[in-house]
Amino acid sequence: MLTVNEIFYSIQGESTRAGRPCVFVRLTACDLRCTWCDTPYAFHEGHKRSISDIVEAVEVHDCPLVEITGGEPLLQEDVYPLMDRLIGSGRTVLLETGGHRPIDRVPAEVVKIVDVKCPASGEADKNHWPNLARLAAHDEVKFVVQDRGDYEFARDVIARHDLASRAAAVLLSPVHGVLDARVLSEWVLADHLPVRVQLQIHKYIWSPTTRGV
Ligand code: SF4
Repeated sequence: MLTVNEIFYSIQGESTRAGRPCVFVRLTACDLRCTWCDTPYAFHEGHKRSISDIVEAVEVHDCPLVEITGGEPLLQEDVYPLMDRLIGSGRTVLLETGGHRPIDRVPAEVVKIVDVKCPASGEADKNHWPNLARLAAHDEVKFVVQDRGDYEFARDVIARHDLASRAAAVLLSPVHGVLDARVLSEWVLADHLPVRVQLQIHKYIWSPTTRGV
């Protein structure tokens, strides 16, 4: 059984799959409290559902791409058999994780999108650094950047861990409504940083506060 906040079909908004239709399984609970978190409703709201029930709800949408997100999805033990079932159904499975829980038990076929928390999140001391040595070539690393300090932190981590050559993508995302994407883009261009600046495109398609999209 897993505690599920919501299951919905929408446009993938923040990864190299951005723009593609995707089914999202948002699991309840998170043990971090990032200052800019846009899904605090997932901290506590949710209902227990069996793995079969979740897989059925995903299959309704007849979509080859599914993302497990949260909250922090790796807090619930049954996320592992859920990932196995979804992989077994032939789907591409994405896992969005905050980067503070070990990723070593995630099935190899799953594409991990691993956050590195920057200082302005208030949670940078929780980063589980060994995760960066466990990235597969198809995985992605994401930094949510609020200010220049966050940008310089990200730039240093990317260089120190050689992330650009070890992951499929390094994503830099400005905190929506706080850091101008143009400012972030100009920093990236000035440094020739080997990253992708990405916007949370679902927040432009729908209102930034719309849930279930
Ligand atoms: S890890 Fe994700 S869900 Fe948890 S507080 Fe941070 S942004 Fe929110």
